[in-house]
Amino acid sequence: MSKALNTTQSEAIFAKAQTLMPGGVSSPVRAFGSVGGTPIVMAKGEGAYMTDVDGNRYIDYVLSWGPLVLGHAYPKVVDALQKAVVNGTSYGAPTAIENELAELIIEVVPSIEMVRFVNSGTEACMSALRLARAYTGRDKIIKFSGNYHGHADMLLVQAGSGVATLGLPDSPGVPQGTTAHTLVAPYNDLDAVKQLFADNPEAVAGVIIEPIAANMGFVQPQEGYLQGLHDLCREHGALFIMDEVMTGFRVAVGGAQEAYGVDPDITCLGKVIGGGLPVGAYGGKKEIMAHVAPAGTMYQAGTLSGNPLAMTGGLTTIQELASDGVFASIAEKAEQFANGMRAIADKLNVPMQVGQQGTMFGFYFLKEANAVISNYDDAKAYADTERYGKFFHLMLAEGVYLAPSQFEAGFMSHVHNETDIQNTLEAAERSISKIVG
Ligand SMILES: *Cc1c(COP(=O)(O)O)cnc(C)c1O
Repeated sequence: MSKALNTTQSEAIFAKAQTLMPGGVSSPVRAFGSVGGTPIVMAKGEGAYMTDVDGNRYIDYVLSWGPLVLGHAYPKVVDALQKAVVNGTSYGAPTAIENELAELIIEVVPSIEMVRFVNSGTEACMSALRLARAYTGRDKIIKFSGNYHGHADMLLVQAGSGVATLGLPDSPGVPQGTTAHTLVAPYNDLDAVKQLFADNPEAVAGVIIEPIAANMGFVQPQEGYLQGLHDLCREHGALFIMDEVMTGFRVAVGGAQEAYGVDPDITCLGKVIGGGLPVGAYGGKKEIMAHVAPAGTMYQAGTLSGNPLAMTGGLTTIQELASDGVFASIAEKAEQFANGMRAIADKLNVPMQVGQQGTMFGFYFLKEANAVISNYDDAKAYADTERYGKFFHLMLAEGVYLAPSQFEAGFMSHVHNETDIQNTLEAAERSISKIVG
């Protein structure tokens, strides 16, 4: 039963926000640009739920775009943060807790031997590329269309996420010179990368990839693709950089590199690594990381980097996630949800592509029954964004908060329960029936 959603307060607050901040938001995808309507203004997060300023409650599958793998205000995390905050929020000096989080990351993420903390995924990716360029003495980088690595100038070329949502081919304000060294290949196409290496001999510093492309929806790498990229990098003296800002601690505790058994030179982390506080990191082989200042000459710094509050959020979250059975149970729920969506699509005869791995999932409504989406061009051609927009709003009215864009992934948490998932699937079946009925 779909209730009409009362959004009086949300609308009033968002109307004012638009006079104060560009588009009324602090980050573009939140503005509902691709699904239409007015963004819901949130007041509180608790477990698997968010409550908006009008008192509507939603089962949340956005989870702050991934970080909240334990759900909102997880008691152990809240306790640890409360204990930490009374000792001050930042010192701008070394702390012991940085060691603790660094040790844990080095322990769980297979390829990382040394790590540098930053404040966001954007910083992690732009720093990783600077490092690859410093290390190799080369300028060019290869990225993939529909992959999003944050909003650094050189990476804002055929990017996914909000760039895909808004349909911006690029962004004004990015000088051509900045992106002149950025080469772009389609995802899941090894030959295209071979060609780029051949056309740019001894010029490519690194290849950066989202091991699962989750900023253009949810596209998994084809068999052997990641290893093939790794091997091409080796062959041509370039570094292989896995942007695990989203997949890190989500596809497996050790990220996609653990799940696929691939050994990147540099890994970018973000999102879950802060447990809901702003943290990013890049890490890799000691020999490469030794080039970062002050150990080496590649400069990169941050006033608030490694601050004790953010480190506490990340440490407590990843410790809990890595404890017995926790990750597996979240992954099981994500699988159950994905299977449920597939069953609904079959039953109602609605063409959908549903993907899931670890604690992440994603689904496309397809414009054509037999279409398969395996890269960004496919996603743009076959994803039925209009249908997704309708579905999104019907689900919102049912009390389910999904990403306000077809080109984003969904996330499961430790605290979503059987009933939440059942209720979500029932709501999805009612909503899809209405759309196709
Ligand atoms: C979210 C994301 C980023 C950017 O991280 P921010 O913390 O938003 O700067 C980079 N890469 C990937 C794969 C992401 O999903």
